Amino acid sequence: MDVSLDKLLARRISAPFLTLAVAVFLATAGNIKFWTTFTAAAGGLTPGRLPLLGGAMLIIVLFFNACLTLASFRFVAKPVFILLLVTASTASYFIAAYGIVIDRAMVQNVFETDMREAGELVSWNMLLTVGLLGLLPASWIARARIAYPQGRRGLVQRAGIAGGSLLLALLLLVLLFKSLAPAVREHRELRFLLTPTNTIQAMNGYLRGKWATPVVVAPLGRDAMKGKAWAGQTRRTVTVIVVGETARAMNFSLNGYRRQTNPLLARQPGLINFSNVRSCGTATAVSVPCVFSAFGREEYSASKAASQEGLLDVLDHAGFKVLWRDNNSGCKGVCARVAFEDLSRPDGPNGFCAGEECYDEGLLGGLPELIRRSEHDLVIVLHQKGSHGPAYAKRYPHDFGRFNPVCDSNDFDKCTAASIANAYDNTILYTDYFLSKTIDTLRAAAEQDGVDTAMLYFSDHGESLGENNLYLHGAPYMFAPDEQTRVPMMLWMSDHFSERFGIDRNCLMARRSEALSHDNVFHSVLGLLDVNTAVLNPKLDLFHACTRGM
Ligand SMILES: [Zn+2]
Repeated sequence: MDVSLDKLLARRISAPFLTLAVAVFLATAGNIKFWTTFTAAAGGLTPGRLPLLGGAMLIIVLFFNACLTLASFRFVAKPVFILLLVTASTASYFIAAYGIVIDRAMVQNVFETDMREAGELVSWNMLLTVGLLGLLPASWIARARIAYPQGRRGLVQRAGIAGGSLLLALLLLVLLFKSLAPAVREHRELRFLLTPTNTIQAMNGYLRGKWATPVVVAPLGRDAMKGKAWAGQTRRTVTVIVVGETARAMNFSLNGYRRQTNPLLARQPGLINFSNVRSCGTATAVSVPCVFSAFGREEYSASKAASQEGLLDVLDHAGFKVLWRDNNSGCKGVCARVAFEDLSRPDGPNGFCAGEECYDEGLLGGLPELIRRSEHDLVIVLHQKGSHGPAYAKRYPHDFGRFNPVCDSNDFDKCTAASIANAYDNTILYTDYFLSKTIDTLRAAAEQDGVDTAMLYFSDHGESLGENNLYLHGAPYMFAPDEQTRVPMMLWMSDHFSERFGIDRNCLMARRSEALSHDNVFHSVLGLLDVNTAVLNPKLDLFHACTRGM
């Protein structure tokens, strides 16, 4: 055995072959915990699941192979491969032994632990795992004689292998998307289990966080003041901004959908539906900070938005009292300096929960009293859970299950396209009810309490339901299909509200199919409420051209 191994080592081994071998080794032996978790997430180890599991493994091998090929140069390949093997085997051991995941906090623990504490973690098992899975293959690589492809041909060959591997991985990803997307979306911990990418990501995050200068939030619109429409008024105003979740425009019958998904909104007098609106991003974490920031989609970045105040701050400067009510996963930083209520937990004050799930209707709890009791002009943001997938059927109470049969599994492979769409359409039907009830609440407040009320609704992004074999959302914006970027938007105003601000409904009605986007929201809310500030760009204010001069 030793003799043949020595013989093998004596021979030159081609770099592409070695690279592929390391990729296969890392993807399989270095990721046992990842694969057991993935298999469970994908519905267990059954013959029917083998193509999915095999395909997923091939995607990761190909991805690793592409990355490693970029390092397969003389003097670079050996140290990189050795470092990766040792890192991956160590990470694997801790993941398996302690059930931990490798994230930024874990890297921080490792770096900031003293040596005595670290010593307690070293065990025979650890030495065995790191020895077998890390040091042993590493020592072979250290001794191997590697034949690297030379010159320009070598460069072309590497580019071909890396590009080909990525392309093939992408193709497999597209083919397996229906099964992969829900498993990965529902089991985010998988991201932190895949070694060595988890360790690299976590180190990167840790070091960036350590060296980053603390974020200083620059003020915005400190000059904001209520304009002429407020002079001599005694009636208070309440403006509700509903931030939808994963609602796509095309499934609203108000936008021409073949099914009646808006039976209640269709009967709401005075509702203005904007039918041609684009989102800023294809994920909540992009769209929500973007839409409330002064930045347009083209210039938006997470760090820019985080280091400057946004719409809610400007409204606060102008004297409004702002409240964010959340039935989602928080406000992504945009409500950091205003009041916040969490209505997403069953042990909280929502009041419309079933098991672990809290419905959006709970966002309206106590709203009439809140409006009546307040002495301020209010801006209330309601952040829906809306149509968040993949478990669409969990998003609405039983009574709203009008379209049947529904997919009630997170596993899209167990569901037909029609049953997925049925469950999704029921979420839109429930949103129809929720928005209509919001309007009813605001209309009643206008009539009974003499406040001027309005509601602006828009969704954060859309959703793919199997078109082009895509599911869920989050596609890179450049390639994202209309399903993910076309969002519903609508406005309702009490009669007093539109009169007071001189808003010409007919003018707005004439503009309802104009191309609009999240970029318009920041400026339009300020325009709607007649807030004077230098940060308001009238060109992006939807109401600018539809407001009668006062
Ligand atoms: Zn979202």
